Amino acid sequence: MRMKRRSACLLTTTLLFIGCLSCADDERAARSSPKEPPFIKVEGPPTYHVLEGYDPKWQAYILEGIEMARAYWGSYGPTHVWIGGREDTQPIDAASKEAFITEYCRWRTAGTERTLEECRPYVTERFIDVVESDQPEAYLSWVDEKPQAEAELVFLNVHEWYHEEDRIPDPVLRGIHEYTHVFQMGFGTMPTWMMEGGAVFAESWLIHLQGRRPLAFNLSRIMPRAKSIRDTGLTIADMEDIDSASEDVAKYHMQLAYDSGAWAVAYLIHRSPDRSVARYRDVFHPMVTELGWEEALSRYLDIEDKQVFYAEFERFMDLPRAEQVKILDELKP
Ligand SMILES: [Zn+2]
Repeated sequence: MRMKRRSACLLTTTLLFIGCLSCADDERAARSSPKEPPFIKVEGPPTYHVLEGYDPKWQAYILEGIEMARAYWGSYGPTHVWIGGREDTQPIDAASKEAFITEYCRWRTAGTERTLEECRPYVTERFIDVVESDQPEAYLSWVDEKPQAEAELVFLNVHEWYHEEDRIPDPVLRGIHEYTHVFQMGFGTMPTWMMEGGAVFAESWLIHLQGRRPLAFNLSRIMPRAKSIRDTGLTIADMEDIDSASEDVAKYHMQLAYDSGAWAVAYLIHRSPDRSVARYRDVFHPMVTELGWEEALSRYLDIEDKQVFYAEFERFMDLPRAEQVKILDELKP
């Protein structure tokens, strides 16, 4: 469940639209960051599209997370949010299904050479069949066939990730995570560990800013997983690009990109002169656009190159837990 969500976090539809809808390898190959930042700063919130019949409370949680992220990162896109699900095993109502397919395909084909006819089987497989499989999914993908690339945030069956005992409903965190990727993609290519690590860090940071949960809550929980892969000798340096990673590396991409990545981003911010998360947002990201992420990292931390960062981070990972968690208390807004 968790694996599925995470592995599908970032996904491009551009190569998926025609021809490779059923092939997992193509899907994996399609999941990469483009060279130019595809998204731009926009006015206002995303446009929401919801499969009729799905309890509006799930949309409300997702919207809460997206709006929290948008208030912090700024508005990027243009972004469309597609939400669907079913909580019983009844087939989706035919009229609701039709309305969703029509709405999606009108948007997806507008400004492109795609036709509604070729869109229909695509949307059926990618959305309707997934909803009816009762599997949860959440990811960002994008359409760059339009004059201006547009983001689509997809949330299907997110109720499957909801647990009553969770203080913060998981769909809220999914909203934060995926919208953070929209922000990141307004700047430029970053390594997989920085993209996923930044989004996982944001889930904790934004909730912490609201005083709803300590910053260390989730980050402490994922530290053992981040440490668990160290015996393999693999590090975040091996997780710069999930698409070109070998199978032996890719199988640890959750521990490397998400768990270690979140700590690497926290460490990066703590290592910067004023330890400010807002400065990471406002200064570091534009530097990525201007200089590329490797040069941006070097200059931001005043180090020779990324290898210095990687080596320092590994030494940080060797520290006792208490010293690791301490850096979280020292981060500044
Ligand atoms: Zn992600």
